[in-house]
Amino acid sequence: MLASEEVVVSEREISAGDGPVVVIGAGPVGLAAAAHLVERELPFLVVDAGAGPGASVRRWGHVRLFSPWRYNIDPAARRLLTEAGITLPADEDLPTGADLVARYLEPLAALPRIAPRLRYGAEVVAIGRVGADRVRTAGREDTPFVVRLADGSEITARAVLDASGTWRTPNVLGGNGLAAHGEREAAGWIDHALPDVLGADRDRHAGRHTVVVGAGHSAATTLLALADLAASAPGTRITWAIRADAPDRTYGGGEDDQLPARGALGAGLHHLVAAGRVELATGFRVHTVRAGADGGAGGVRLLDAAGRSIDADRVVAATGYRPDWRLAGELRLELDPILEAARELAPLIDPNVHSCGTVYPHGVAELSHPEPGYFALGSKSYGRAPTFLMATGYEQARSVVAALAGDWAAARDVRLALPETGVCSVSTGLQGIAADLGLPADVPDQLMTATARHLGSAATPVDAVLTAAAELGLDPTATRRFAAFAAAQAGDHTG
Ligand SMILES: Cc1cc2nc3c(=O)[nH]c(=O)nc-3n(C[C@H](O)[C@H](O)[C@H](O)COP(=O)(O)OP(=O)(O)OC[C@H]3O[C@@H](n4cnc5c(N)ncnc54)[C@H](O)[C@@H]3O)c2cc1C
Repeated sequence: MLASEEVVVSEREISAGDGPVVVIGAGPVGLAAAAHLVERELPFLVVDAGAGPGASVRRWGHVRLFSPWRYNIDPAARRLLTEAGITLPADEDLPTGADLVARYLEPLAALPRIAPRLRYGAEVVAIGRVGADRVRTAGREDTPFVVRLADGSEITARAVLDASGTWRTPNVLGGNGLAAHGEREAAGWIDHALPDVLGADRDRHAGRHTVVVGAGHSAATTLLALADLAASAPGTRITWAIRADAPDRTYGGGEDDQLPARGALGAGLHHLVAAGRVELATGFRVHTVRAGADGGAGGVRLLDAAGRSIDADRVVAATGYRPDWRLAGELRLELDPILEAARELAPLIDPNVHSCGTVYPHGVAELSHPEPGYFALGSKSYGRAPTFLMATGYEQARSVVAALAGDWAAARDVRLALPETGVCSVSTGLQGIAADLGLPADVPDQLMTATARHLGSAATPVDAVLTAAAELGLDPTATRRFAAFAAAQAGDHTG
């Protein structure tokens, strides 16, 4: 694939000392890494801040996943569980988060080859190199890592796989990426993503007015659950506030989505808005939150920069997540300035360019940093990009662990087939143009990847396409067609 040809990752042994590979996080991807480490017979230790496996998934245990089991079980974990005689759920069933923990993560974590290497209640607060700060270069690659826990204890490690996710660092409510004025003071009125409105959190929403802010799957999931609640709890009112001028991207691909449950989320929401069961406020960028005595009739008031306001009883901030890179502050990381993902991975997942839900297969090459032996895997690897799927993390874990084992052929042989969202407007359009002009089938992929790389520095998306087309040596006709298509698409990607 294009990107891995461009990345030069040295095939030296990634080994600093004799310590274990430390995996941070016993979520789906951290435990998948553990399964691959078992198969590769590499010593490892998994540390997790929670009280058991899947601590973050448990927090949204009431939510039904949109990907069926077949995508949610890592292949190495499947082999180990099957060997141990554990029956796995049917491929096409859709688990809830709680099912994912009970029927997959708990049995996996309990396997005799994994359980003794797991430590819970072990929160990592910092990672460094033994006796070397970030500035010191001499001998760095051969110096073990030191992983410091909240209780002050330290573990030395030959490599660190950071699968700590992003759940614990939700995005702010403010429409410009900064906390809204008054957001902190109003914290008692705000839920971050996915409250259990039909279960544990019912009383806070039944017969009351909730405003949901955000345009992703979490917002859609909460809005659908609130509509269910409204059907049985009179007086329940629902408002949906989005920054964009239209909700089309949230509505998604509907029946064209290769994951029907994901398509149904957007389609269901579309229906609720059309039927007037959810009030939609478009172009609403939260600027100020007022609560308590200043919060209007319901108790909390959202204001946008233009002075428009929404009064409600509760706010659900479904505005996504951010990675927390503070843990790795003493390491040499190379992060994309837009997404805060590894620099080589970012162009492959930039939501400004990719809407399909698919991602090019990637692994150790794209996940490497200037700090050999440190890799962020799983949802954290995506930084601020929103479309992470577990299956992506499983392939990342397989590739990186193969590299740690010195099996570079396996590490570089990355494969991934993910279900498309049905809104692959960009890739489908580009493929149509390529077919029309008789260009090789891989030109659209190459063009999208190169374009994404130039988006940060180019004045407009069209300029980024022109630079990418020149780089790929496309002729003037093809360049004009692709640039014209990009100009038409640019309108779709604002807001
Ligand atoms: C509501 C919701 C629905 C989703 N549905 C799907 C779906 O249908 N299909 C799909 O493929 N993906 C889905 N995802 C996306 C994604 O696959 C999941 O979020 C998945 O849990 C990510 O796995 P992970 O292992 O990378 O991180 P997490 O599951 O977030 O696990 C991270 C672990 O690290 C631990 N941790 C965090 N910080 C520290 C620290 N400092 N020290 C020690 N331990 C730490 C946490 O306790 C946690 O156990 C969904 C996400 C959400 C939020």
